[in-house]
Amino acid sequence: MNTTTSPTDPSPLPVRFSDLALDPRLLRAVGEMGYETLTPIQAKAIPLLLDGRDIMGAAQTGTGKTAAFSLPILQQLLPLANTSMSPARHPVRALMLAPTRELADQVYANLKAYAKHTPLRCACVFGGMDMNPQKEELRKGVELLVATPGRLLDHIEAKTVNLSQVQFVVLDEADRMLDIGFLPDLQRILGYLPRQRTTLLFSATFSPEIKRLAQSYLQNPLLVEVARPNATAATVEQRVYQVEEDDKRAALVQLLRDNPLPQVIVFVNSRLGAGRLARALERDGIKAAAMHGDKSQAERLTTLDAFKRGDIQALVATDVAARGLDIAELPGVVNYDVPFNAEDYVHRIGRTGRAGASGLAITLATPRDARALADIEKLIKRQFDKLPLQIDRSSRARRDAPPRRADSAGSPTGTAAPAAWHGSARAPRHDPWFDKPYEPDPNAKPSWDATAPAAPTASRSVSPSIRPRRKIAALLGGQGNR
Ligand code: AMP
Repeated sequence: MNTTTSPTDPSPLPVRFSDLALDPRLLRAVGEMGYETLTPIQAKAIPLLLDGRDIMGAAQTGTGKTAAFSLPILQQLLPLANTSMSPARHPVRALMLAPTRELADQVYANLKAYAKHTPLRCACVFGGMDMNPQKEELRKGVELLVATPGRLLDHIEAKTVNLSQVQFVVLDEADRMLDIGFLPDLQRILGYLPRQRTTLLFSATFSPEIKRLAQSYLQNPLLVEVARPNATAATVEQRVYQVEEDDKRAALVQLLRDNPLPQVIVFVNSRLGAGRLARALERDGIKAAAMHGDKSQAERLTTLDAFKRGDIQALVATDVAARGLDIAELPGVVNYDVPFNAEDYVHRIGRTGRAGASGLAITLATPRDARALADIEKLIKRQFDKLPLQIDRSSRARRDAPPRRADSAGSPTGTAAPAAWHGSARAPRHDPWFDKPYEPDPNAKPSWDATAPAAPTASRSVSPSIRPRRKIAALLGGQGNR
């Protein structure tokens, strides 16, 4: 593949949106969103895209990449925009594929905001939802369609969408799509598109599979890269406590009681774990609520409001769910589960200690987390002191299940869990399937913003093998993408 790294052109990169040849309606929309200067990916990619080039973008969520691809696409579709009621006048001309419903929804929300002063129509289809309202919307005609691959294929099969007039296709978070197992779906979808088109591929990583995908479907793409910061803020105190798996809940309860943290996000690696932990904390007298992909948008908003009001002290969140949280400053975060992806650690703790404020990031690490912890240390270039934690018996958390056997119930002292608690009868079965990394938070303060010291974003799943789609998609916070 003949990939060229930009910029080959010596002309200086644009700095402001007004430096770009964009329609005033688009400039007005970005102005209303509060954007002034271009992010690095926008400065590099938008001029190339306005020139009609195919692009491989090495940029993650949080870098401003959605605007980087949406604005030039909207600009180029504007001459075709019309207010006709006829669906035939609104064929799908731009297709944006995303791995999860959260990301699809996020892209759609931005796209709609950028297009709001134009007659161009946008829609979003993803799995886990009734297909009929989506069909209805597609039948009326939309120029820009955001979709997860599985659900799009459902619509293609149901003949509710026709892709024969697509001029632009965006593969967003392509590495994640491959990890989820969407390659066959992507290949089928790309097969429905006209050969003459512009193709954009965004990916955090460029594995051989991604390069092969690009080689097959992109034409002379330019590689556009932006550096991602992996620094943690000096204002965040990072503490790592070494605990046994069985003591994690008790440790958390104790730490929340001992530290003046009126508001804290407790990160967990699975939806199941989020609900379970929030319930356990409640039983231990800590106001807690879970935020995860199974919650409806309305439930999430209610929970978030309660958290912002201070009615909830601990918001137990999966990474996917936390992406949508618009919380400017937090006194602390807890990694109840150590993230499997080191960059995710940086991102999580970037939720606190912003703009010079001090923050506390607590991580509970079990012996099983040694490797993940070492990866984090390597990334942030510092070694943690692994602190011991004396578990106070009185704050020992109650368990979800009734695990205590008569012979173990009475042990009153010591830091180790009673022996019987280590037995298989009570040990939480660890399913490695839940050990997926979470997704980056697109709503976090952008990583190029100097006042947001730690918002690099996540990249890829750890699994090198492709796993069954539904399972993983559900784990990533979706309900499966069909
Ligand atoms: P993205 O990487 O596209 O998900 O964008 C991350 C966040 O940055 C979103 O909340 C965007 O609304 C915001 N954003 C994108 N471009 C800019 C910009 N030039 N200036 C300020 N914020 C931006």
